Amino acid sequence: MKKEALIQHKTPYYQYNLDLLNQTLDLAQTHALKYGYHIHYALKANTNDRILEIIRSKSFGADCVSGNEVKKAIEKGFAPNQIAFAGVGKSDEEIGIGLEHEIFTFNCESVEEIEVINDLAAQHNKIANIALRLNPNVDAKTHKYITTGLEENKFGINHWELESLLTKLPSLSHIKVTGLHFHIGSQITSMTPFKNLCIRVNELNHWFLERGVRIEHLNLGGGLGIDYQHPTENPIPDFELFFGVFNQFLEPQPHQEIHFELGRSLVANCGSLITKVLYVKKGVKTNFVILDAGMTELIRPALYQASHFIENLTSDSTEVEFYDVVGPICESSDCFGKKIALKQTKRGDFIKIHSTGAYGEVMVSGYNLREQNPVVFLDERF
Ligand SMILES: *Cc1c(COP(=O)(O)O)cnc(C)c1O
Repeated sequence: MKKEALIQHKTPYYQYNLDLLNQTLDLAQTHALKYGYHIHYALKANTNDRILEIIRSKSFGADCVSGNEVKKAIEKGFAPNQIAFAGVGKSDEEIGIGLEHEIFTFNCESVEEIEVINDLAAQHNKIANIALRLNPNVDAKTHKYITTGLEENKFGINHWELESLLTKLPSLSHIKVTGLHFHIGSQITSMTPFKNLCIRVNELNHWFLERGVRIEHLNLGGGLGIDYQHPTENPIPDFELFFGVFNQFLEPQPHQEIHFELGRSLVANCGSLITKVLYVKKGVKTNFVILDAGMTELIRPALYQASHFIENLTSDSTEVEFYDVVGPICESSDCFGKKIALKQTKRGDFIKIHSTGAYGEVMVSGYNLREQNPVVFLDERF
């Protein structure tokens, strides 16, 4: 990319490649629709208006984890009856928003929450559709901070609570159980955890069938990972393989709809963080590249030890050197990577941190009173 094009915008800034976004969304829909699967886009990955508008235009539903996300989804044109609302700690006010809009489902994470929704639905004179988020105790084999389907995690209803929940259900006259919901974690790159999930879902689905509870939909959550190390060679996740695993191993009853909630896999690779080198500082064992972007713009490395592919866009050098690439924030965790191979780098070079379209811009913080620059959209591939 030409330096002239880069310097038009104040760094650091998020840049979105809408062409790649469109291609990714189309492929995901094509492979899901082969089996009649429904995809809800998990808003928490990226709530940029233009991105939401594009996703909405391609007939995705929405998966929300806060009342404001439910409001945002509706404002952007997502159909309320395609909105799933998850989260372990929904406030009364947030539940009220879901009730008012008669959303597709509340994905409920505890017996207590179901009782509260029942009471609030009674006050609103509504029947709330709920899905039971069950903890399948399946190891997603991903970073421990983004593993959610183990008994030790705070998410979901555990199997030993189900029997007593079923005896309670007839007295909860303002809720209707319509689905079973699962979400085992994020950035899952092996298909084995998804296969194990299917096997567990079949058992649980059968358990409800035996007890005469009609389950209308199964929601398998999200979690499909992307290739953070080779984003250019491998920009779009293998949706064909992913949905194929569910088609092969899941045994739904004939009337059951199958839903997914994908976030990262739909939007991660279409985003980059463009930043400028402020200083190259000699260290004792290593040289530091100090960027004008830090953990305030992209917190994933500090929060989950995530590593993004980093590239020097403007260096003319043919030499490659190794650098510790860090931000300007006064925290030692403000580091994007150690021993990163970059073309020889100097002050003023532009650096691209790849695959930041998911859990990037949405996690920007105002720590250190940092400024937030406008995002840039690329409508065509460069
Ligand atoms: C975060 C989340 C998702 C999306 O996860 P990705 O890994 O981004 O696909 C889906 N469902 C629930 C309940 C979530 O919390």
